[in-house]
Amino acid sequence: MDQATVKKLVKDNGVEFIIVQFVDVLGNLKHLELPISQLDKVLDGDIMFDGSSILGFASIENSDMYLKPDLSTFAVLPWSGGKEARIICDVYTGDQKPFAGDPRSVLKRALEKAKTLGFEGLNVGPEPEFFLFPLDEKGEPVFTPHDGIGYFDAGARDKGQKVRQDITRTLQALGFEVEALHHEVAIGQHEVDFKFGDALLTADRIATFKWVVKEIAAQHGFYASFMPKPIARINGSGMHVHQSLYTTQGNAFYDANDELGLSANARHYIAGILAHAQAFAAVTNPTINSYKRLVPGYEAPCYIAWSCSNRSALIRIPAARKAATRIEVRCPDPMANPYLALALMLVSGLDGIEKKLPLVPEVKENIYHMSDSIRAEYGIEALPADLNEALNNLAQDEVLKNALGTHLYESYMSLKKAEWDEYRLEVHPWELKQYN
Ligand code: GLN
Ligand code: MG
Ligand code: MG
Ligand code: MG
Repeated sequence: MDQATVKKLVKDNGVEFIIVQFVDVLGNLKHLELPISQLDKVLDGDIMFDGSSILGFASIENSDMYLKPDLSTFAVLPWSGGKEARIICDVYTGDQKPFAGDPRSVLKRALEKAKTLGFEGLNVGPEPEFFLFPLDEKGEPVFTPHDGIGYFDAGARDKGQKVRQDITRTLQALGFEVEALHHEVAIGQHEVDFKFGDALLTADRIATFKWVVKEIAAQHGFYASFMPKPIARINGSGMHVHQSLYTTQGNAFYDANDELGLSANARHYIAGILAHAQAFAAVTNPTINSYKRLVPGYEAPCYIAWSCSNRSALIRIPAARKAATRIEVRCPDPMANPYLALALMLVSGLDGIEKKLPLVPEVKENIYHMSDSIRAEYGIEALPADLNEALNNLAQDEVLKNALGTHLYESYMSLKKAEWDEYRLEVHPWELKQYN
């Protein structure tokens, strides 16, 4: 999309407000709204803001920042009656250079790295899950699900159906191709799947998706939560990430002559993901609560292994081949900053390709049911047990630290370490029950 097209769409729709967006270190969408009279300034990248007030961004001494619009992200917001439009922006420093602390720039750098290795890009298909919770009379969420039904259940008890349909309509109006919408396994849990696309486009879409889901849920009187494990002892919300590299020749993960139909690049990419998972978990599973999802028995992975069918493994290879050959990484959850999560998985896979890391054999058995000694015999390691372990692993992983860059690594680390320290001050009801 070029400037003239944006201006025409603004005029044709009678847009009154333009919202410029970017994400903070944790992946939260930030909004600055301008009357449409300021459109030229937006399009010229002349919008300034105070970076010191954004989580993990600049210091007070160095806080002037610019927003440079990515015109391909321009969209008129369907729920505004055509009156509002948004553009996602890259963040630049006061001296007009890409800001190293901008998560979008980290993903762009990772994609550049893929190019230097001969890949055109990464196709990504995410499956973000979420819960809908009712609101109390004060409008606060009540963390008891709004229904008592599960996977693919239909009928009058599915109070989320209309919400999923409205989410779908909105996403479609924003240019997403929605492929399926359904009730998920857990009570009150839902999924709306959209078609895979290029990594940067998809990261923008994940950020947009979470915003849309929360807006539409609120319009229906619900609270949408992307918390990974809001309710103990039932399935949590994951965000499986299907991924495949492609070249100008097409899908780089397919090889018709291989017994599993997987190319050498696919095998090395998987090996790279397995090698770095204990460290990238700090970003793909970014909260204290994330690690309460990664326990046996709830369709979430806990062990570092791959398989063609087994849903207890970290990586599953869906049956489709040829152009649809891909891997599904099952640990990420929807609280992850989508830009950083995709960047670190990509860089991990590329590291496997660069170093030609050998791939361990597939694990066909259900790993949840394996004894510790059998797992040890297979050499199957576990994902981190908590956020602190994941952060310590990240601190040891030079490939991933390098991909994040010093600024982002340090700001992410200090925010997350502070979160862990804050958590350690709390005494949980379970401890009182157990140890009183
Ligand atoms: N909710 C599961 C998870 O935590 C996934 C369930 C599914 O999509 N099959 O990852
Ligand atoms: Mg799914
Ligand atoms: Mg699902
Ligand atoms: Mg899946």
